[in-house]
Amino acid sequence: MVFVDGLGLGKKAPGINPLESGACPHLHDLIVNHAVPVDACMGVDGLPQSATGQTSLLTGVNAQEVMGRHIEGFPGPGLCRIIKKENIFSRHLALGLTATFANGYYLNDPAEARLLRLRSVTTVATLAAFGGVRDLSMIERNEAVCHDLVRQTLRDRGYRGPTITIEEAAGHLVNIANHHDFTLFEFFLTDRAGHSGDMGFAKDVLGRLDQLLAHVLRDLDTSSGRLILTSDHGNIEDMSICRHTTNPVPFVVLGKDAEELLPKVASLADVTPALLGLCD
Ligand SMILES: [Zn+2]
Repeated sequence: MVFVDGLGLGKKAPGINPLESGACPHLHDLIVNHAVPVDACMGVDGLPQSATGQTSLLTGVNAQEVMGRHIEGFPGPGLCRIIKKENIFSRHLALGLTATFANGYYLNDPAEARLLRLRSVTTVATLAAFGGVRDLSMIERNEAVCHDLVRQTLRDRGYRGPTITIEEAAGHLVNIANHHDFTLFEFFLTDRAGHSGDMGFAKDVLGRLDQLLAHVLRDLDTSSGRLILTSDHGNIEDMSICRHTTNPVPFVVLGKDAEELLPKVASLADVTPALLGLCD
């Protein structure tokens, strides 16, 4: 499952919507032919935000409703309690299945993620389920995928290893996915690009994601596995504003049980129960 931060379904207007600009043909095809629209507002007024949206997505609990509002950025104690108890990783483990978070962190030790001052929803969930994250040594062994795919952001922070191609990153991701019942990868540059208001940056980021998807689709066995792609709220699909949108987000399923899964998901909180329902 590829979680893409800040990817909504917008207007067919290439001037403001980079998804309609030809920058990401594979993603565009997935959205048009293999997706349903999903509500990210969750019955709560205001603009959908990351902390509550991701919690709903990865737990099945309507976190917006529980908290009474949309909460930005990083989860506080209330959301962390929900994530620790209900996260999709732990629930796969409880069913006797394997699960993992494929993202690699710029840390020398897996448990160091506990010391991070700001912990994302995915970090909290990963620590709750596994006690640690994929660290630098795993990135070096190609057993983790950097959020920017090519490892440039690691080099900017002092990493001495080489950058890699998006095709190589896709190969590493598919390899991790082939060894687990459920694998999550988080791509959040889309949300950054949406906030930037920079159409060139947005097209570049979507182009990178598109290359990843093209290679994953080539390498993934969709007769036995499936690609899922979804988001927590809209943003990048409307570059005329630099903030989140109330647009629905796509829930893409390609591969095994796609026809069974797609009609079961109408809001963010339906994703985790729908996926776990296939595991019974
Ligand atoms: Zn977000």
